[in-house]
Amino acid sequence: MELKTLNEIEIISAPHSKISEVDFENLTFGNVFTDHMLVCDYVDGAWQKPVIEPYAPFMIDPSAKVFHYGQAIFEGMKAYKDEQDDVWLFRPDENYHRFNKSATRMAMPEVPEDVFLGGLHRLLEIEKEWVKKGKGNTLYIRPFMIATGHGVIAAPSQEYRFMIILSPARAYYSGEVRVLIAEHFSRAANGGIGAAKAAGNYSAQFYPTKLANEQGFQQIIWTDDATHTKLEEAGTMNVFFRINDTIYTAPTSERILDGVTRKSVIELAQRENIKVEVRSVLVDELVAAAKDGSLKEIFGAGTAAVINPIVGFSYLGEYYELPKLENSVALEIKEKLTNIQYKLAEDTFGWTVKI
Ligand SMILES: *Cc1c(COP(=O)(O)O)cnc(C)c1O
Repeated sequence: MELKTLNEIEIISAPHSKISEVDFENLTFGNVFTDHMLVCDYVDGAWQKPVIEPYAPFMIDPSAKVFHYGQAIFEGMKAYKDEQDDVWLFRPDENYHRFNKSATRMAMPEVPEDVFLGGLHRLLEIEKEWVKKGKGNTLYIRPFMIATGHGVIAAPSQEYRFMIILSPARAYYSGEVRVLIAEHFSRAANGGIGAAKAAGNYSAQFYPTKLANEQGFQQIIWTDDATHTKLEEAGTMNVFFRINDTIYTAPTSERILDGVTRKSVIELAQRENIKVEVRSVLVDELVAAAKDGSLKEIFGAGTAAVINPIVGFSYLGEYYELPKLENSVALEIKEKLTNIQYKLAEDTFGWTVKI
């Protein structure tokens, strides 16, 4: 795919750049933002002209629906710089379409492609110095939409704001991740909003995750809400299990978010002749595989961490540590995927899009 830039846009340049003040070697994920942001308001049933303006706080009415009813959605994407100083996106159309699916589920208006993708293109042209060369350096992209309409009546807002902010990031390293398998709490339910990237899905996870942290676990593996017998997602990532030489991941559903990393891992594994099965994995199966030694790996997949290996899990008070492996399929897939993203390997899938 080719990405067109948006010309119908107002640009207000920042008087000076903060870039020289940023320590790119020591970035904390999602803490530093670039000089500009994209803003586009939805008023009187129509999207207005987008503006790229200096990154800054802004005012909203205290009665705005985003504060009271959490009518808010977001996306997470990354830009990469190759050795020739060209900037690339990875499957941006997937994020664009998912954003509008999330919007529909939250009774919000869809954002036009020229605002989302064209606006992002223009913003990245302006901020390309913030994308640093070298594997592991990325510019994290956070498009989001909030309900700005005023009034506390519990009904969808009449006004919205779509924005894109950008944050330089280093390779995400979370240390050794041990997880707790959910026995009571749920991330999502059938008929709910689990398939949308709705802000409230994340805040609903904070409390159970805090309890898990207190017990020494970094994340929770979510199970299905009805029976807590099926393994669904790990934290805010899709989850894969390797039993013997096959990797398994659950099919997407109303409870399981359709991750871009997940689908890329599946396609890449298939190309590499790694056996992949998309089917539900039961907690009991995982425990049995851990006991008989056939469980080799567990890993999360998502844009921020790409692949996040999990070293052990706890279920019903019993802790199971995974074997230390010489050849990790998770890390092999991560290497192949990031090589495509950084243009260090041929992109036979046509996933990368040049800015
Ligand atoms: C964003 C997200 C993912 C990962 O999706 P990617 O497109 O791979 O970044 C997985 N699960 C949940 C719940 C998410 O919100």
